[in-house]
Amino acid sequence: MLHTRFKNDGIAVYKMTALQEAARDAIAKKIADNVYKMVEESCPACAESEHVVLSQKDMYGLPMTVAVCESCDFVYTQKRLTDKSLIDFYDGEYRQLDRAIPGIDPFYALQKRKGELLYDFLKEHDFLKKSLTESDFIVEIGCGAGGILHYFRDKGYSTVGCDFGSEYLNYGREKHGLTLIDGGLVALAPFFETLNRKPAIVIYEQVLEHIFNLDEELIELKN
Ligand SMILES: [Zn+2]
Repeated sequence: MLHTRFKNDGIAVYKMTALQEAARDAIAKKIADNVYKMVEESCPACAESEHVVLSQKDMYGLPMTVAVCESCDFVYTQKRLTDKSLIDFYDGEYRQLDRAIPGIDPFYALQKRKGELLYDFLKEHDFLKKSLTESDFIVEIGCGAGGILHYFRDKGYSTVGCDFGSEYLNYGREKHGLTLIDGGLVALAPFFETLNRKPAIVIYEQVLEHIFNLDEELIELKN
């Protein structure tokens, strides 16, 4: 281990809000009760399993092993929640733990602002071709409440998003009339098959680090 302060002692490395602490404690209890299950991973770069542990906890004080691969020196998350538990976590305590923004409104406003920044960037670098029409879809994987898509919709594009957090998805659907689908990338396939269309642009905004298997995700995305 790098230092004794990386031991799994349940102590956060920074001052969290009361909301975050409540979320953290709820998650810790679920892990202790085996409601959230953990899995050990081999190295995603070379597939070897021999490793040296660097840290046993994350910044919230939750158990999560980060290790360096003995064979190729790649640093990776060696022990993490299972795919199933991660989906439950993203639908459960994730937002409270991560951002601790009280209420969805300010979060949504922040997303819309990000949508504006993304739009301006894409436009400046000529990704938004003039030939891109209203029927071309802007897709967002891990869209939260859909604020980014809202901005693109205002610019005249068709939009669709997906995520695992049902509370945020419902907010985007009910309050802003967005088309938002429960699940990950694969959950969007039936939507596009029905329409017989393909996405024009796919956005992953602060999301790639949450994807369980990046290789599989990118292969699926190509299809
Ligand atoms: Zn390796």
